[in-house]
Amino acid sequence: MQVYEVGGAVRDWLLGQTVKDRDWVVVGATPEQMLAAGYRQVGADFPVFLHPETHEEYALARTERKSGHGYHGFEVHSAPDVTLEEDLKRRDLTVNAMARDAEGHLVDPFGGERDIADRVLRHVSPAFAEDPLRILRTARFAARLAPMGFEVAVETMTLMRSMVADGEVDHLVPERVWQETRRALHEARPRVFFEVLEACGALAVVMPEIASPEEVLEKGLAALVRAVGISEATEVRFGALVAPLDANTAQAFSERLRVPNSCRDIAVSSAALPRWPRPLSADWVEELLEKADAWRRPERFEQLLMVMEACGLDAQAAGRVREARSRAAAVDPQALMKEGYQGKALGEAIGARRQQAIEQVIEGEADHE
Ligand code: ATP
Ligand code: MG
Repeated sequence: MQVYEVGGAVRDWLLGQTVKDRDWVVVGATPEQMLAAGYRQVGADFPVFLHPETHEEYALARTERKSGHGYHGFEVHSAPDVTLEEDLKRRDLTVNAMARDAEGHLVDPFGGERDIADRVLRHVSPAFAEDPLRILRTARFAARLAPMGFEVAVETMTLMRSMVADGEVDHLVPERVWQETRRALHEARPRVFFEVLEACGALAVVMPEIASPEEVLEKGLAALVRAVGISEATEVRFGALVAPLDANTAQAFSERLRVPNSCRDIAVSSAALPRWPRPLSADWVEELLEKADAWRRPERFEQLLMVMEACGLDAQAAGRVREARSRAAAVDPQALMKEGYQGKALGEAIGARRQQAIEQVIEGEADHE
């Protein structure tokens, strides 16, 4: 049997990037030989094994044939006579369809090395059209590699457009759409992910809520770009993207994509927040803190504030809101009780002291402007 390093690890090695996880292809072996060599099979009917010590993935060379619609209908064929080239041919992009043998020699039947040099993301073969997930993956790799100058090949964009027109994208399940979107939100240029999906027409199918009107998408993408500079949190980036939506649409969108509760919560809350006045007013800050439940949920409030910054609230104003929140949160019920407040009067006193604290920060400093 021969063992080859394949896929992302070879691509990243050629790009001079650190390799995160390695995948291997084994040619000329049977599952029985792998088990006898101590590998552990993962999944019942898939010829993928884990190395006994490194736990890296070793897949028997295989071919795949489409046998139905969407993501499920694949017939996998794996046998000792399946060649490395046949295995590479089933892969999505040329840059992902290279292998390296034990001596370090590159095996590159589809021109991946040249496409790396030319900064092109190109599909390996027309079989690309058999799996709509590849559109999302291509958009995500475009988002990752955009800073190095990579773009989607013209003919790949054309193919992706025809896949959308053929209704192939309608079969993508929300879980996969979100999985790729979440990853894309953490790539180097998340905006590019949505731009590629828009360019091939897939965005209107998988995320109609943000795809149109154009101003909604443009605003969301601009906010997303700023969010990337502000926070690593998925919640903040997603919240910025959907901030131009109204609260109902943000909610429907989040539910349809089955985003995690924390992301849906930020999206809906930020869509429902009052627009800030300039300069800030103490009344507005007080309403914001109440509506956002900032006393009980300071971490979430901080994320909301970062979404607002991504939407254009200037850093100085955001800093003042932060300061107002923390001073108001420091109002101590125990101390008020010692002063003799109790019951309803206590609640009112807490409210009044908080209001005072907010006014001091917001109006006090507004005077200095
Ligand atoms: P990453 O750095 O994100 O891990 P990767 O290229 O290693 O990138 P994986 O999702 O780990 O991506 O997949 C490993 C390899 O399997 C890819 O490089 C590609 O060759 C192939 N591959 C994965 N998913 C698909 C798919 N849906 N269609 C075709 N080939 C795929
Ligand atoms: Mg990988």
